[in-house]
Amino acid sequence: MTQPASNLRLPAVHVLLAAPACAPLLAEYGREQTVNALRDVLASLRTALLAGEAADTSDEAVLAALTASLKAANRSTMRRLFNLTGTVLHTNLGRALLPDVAVQAVADALRWPMNLEWDLETGKRGDRDTLVEEHLLKLTGAEAVTVVNNNAAAVLLMLNTLASGREVIVSRGELVEIGGAFRIPDVMTRAGATLREVGATNRTHLKDYAEGIADNTALLMKVHCSNYAITGFTKEVTLPELVPLARERGIPVAVDLGSGTLVNLEQYGLPHETTVRETIEGGADLVTFSGDKLLGGPQCGIIAGRKDLIAAIKKNPLKRALRVGKLTLAALEPVLALYHAPDLLTERLTTLRLLTRPAWAMRALAERLQPLLQRALGDSYTVSAEPMSSQIGSGALPVDQLPSYGLAVRADARTRGNPLGVLERRLRQLPVPVIGRIADDTFWLDLRCLEDAHADEFAAQLAHLESTSA
Ligand SMILES: *Cc1c(COP(=O)(O)O)cnc(C)c1O
Repeated sequence: MTQPASNLRLPAVHVLLAAPACAPLLAEYGREQTVNALRDVLASLRTALLAGEAADTSDEAVLAALTASLKAANRSTMRRLFNLTGTVLHTNLGRALLPDVAVQAVADALRWPMNLEWDLETGKRGDRDTLVEEHLLKLTGAEAVTVVNNNAAAVLLMLNTLASGREVIVSRGELVEIGGAFRIPDVMTRAGATLREVGATNRTHLKDYAEGIADNTALLMKVHCSNYAITGFTKEVTLPELVPLARERGIPVAVDLGSGTLVNLEQYGLPHETTVRETIEGGADLVTFSGDKLLGGPQCGIIAGRKDLIAAIKKNPLKRALRVGKLTLAALEPVLALYHAPDLLTERLTTLRLLTRPAWAMRALAERLQPLLQRALGDSYTVSAEPMSSQIGSGALPVDQLPSYGLAVRADARTRGNPLGVLERRLRQLPVPVIGRIADDTFWLDLRCLEDAHADEFAAQLAHLESTSA
């Protein structure tokens, strides 16, 4: 019913609150929130009527608007989504997905008190690192380990502990910038250490390191070229080449592995990525790496290496500021335990399962979904099932691509405007948003990360696309 501005007859608040249809809202959202939202709904109706706009002021319409407003205000801002970008470890989409054993452990840690820093053998106060220590020592061959918030924190803490007020030698070819403002030179400054660059961008020789060493050299550091490759006329001093020089001068060597992995990935048909064990065996005194990249665990940073150096790191007051919480440790422990059965890892560790998913499985899924997406999009787009290539992501094995399969969507050449941009938005607005990638005038939906268990849910929501046409 439309009201003239001179005769605003809006339903009264107390009448609406007493309506049977309001009872479930009061039960779910509470009185205060419901009343406030109702006043807001009535206020905007009043504004619309005063402006001479047509507005439905029936009780039903007001309660419907109230329901929508309360729902919207209470919807969580962190939403699950389908990652069809083709990047398995996507930093902006939360990196590694964790296996159910880790999910269960986190749920328990949320619900129950835990022996986070409590030694159940002695009944005395303990150290939270010991919860994962044994697994990590076994898996890396290191003497000691400690866990912090992420790998950036691991590098910061290591540098601050070992090199504050002193110099750290790094090759110019390894002055890495990882996305999100992590640059080795900047972290070095914040840690209170002075960077001493040696060599050239493409070539660094052992004598460059040797000549760079001075009285105040605290550390020789190597950084894994996570997200780029230097090719052509190049020379890198390898860890085994560097270690004898470091030993001779009595200076420790640290390696920031970035992703780092705990197993040889070649056994699963993936490209080789230096493992933490290889780095320790290669003579590194300390190694830093992420928990949520190739390792496939929760966000954290792990420092592994010499006992005396780890002990010094654990005494640094910054450790207290950078330490991990119980949820992280709860998730990390079962993930590490999976590594003791490497032959079952491609089944149990979600990240590895996705990375090793056979192209035929993705192809079968693509062929099943192709007609469904084609129907949902109508004839201004052409959908085809095609081979494509996925990336591991998060700087791991940056130049390697994994053969994958998925859906390629192209717009009819006569469509004006930005049809792929429109499609990108429509997919993003689905109940479970779908994130793909636009390249070469094509919208790519890589199916590597759409496991069969979720395929029906994905297919079912495609129907929503028909009602949100361009
Ligand atoms: C990813 C990465 C980091 C940062 O690790 P986060 O866990 O994201 O903090 C640091 N160094 C290298 C070489 C990396 O690849």
